[in-house]
This record gives sequence, C-alpha cells and structure tokens, in this order.
Amino acid sequence: MIRCGFCGHEFDEGQVKTGCASCPMSSGCRMVKCPRCNYENPPEPALVRKIRSILKKSGS
Ligand SMILES: [Zn+2]
Repeated sequence: MIRCGFCGHEFDEGQVKTGCASCPMSSGCRMVKCPRCNYENPPEPALVRKIRSILKKSGS
C-alpha cells in the first residue's frame, strides 16, 4: 500500500500505472500517481515494504 503524500488516500501500487506516458523522462520515471488527486508519489522503497510485511505477519 502506498499512502498519498498529498491527500492521504491509500492505494495499492498495482492499481495504478507507474510513471506517465507523456513524461519526457519516461525511461526513468517511476512515480506513482494517486488515483484520487493525481499527486505523484515516489515509489515505496523495497526496504520499507519488507519491514512492513514483517510487521504485518507478527501483528496478526
Ligand atoms: Zn492523493
């Protein structure tokens, strides 16, 4: 899950297209657009995701 840094909307990274078709740096753009407000969030670091998955496992 990614939390939008602008509106706080939580969405799954797989739900949205990463990068943008019209981006001049399309080869390197990895921004994740919020489906609600179109704010471009930076992709979640793999390390953060790993820690979060570990916490989720022990939590439940
Ligand atoms: Zn948003």
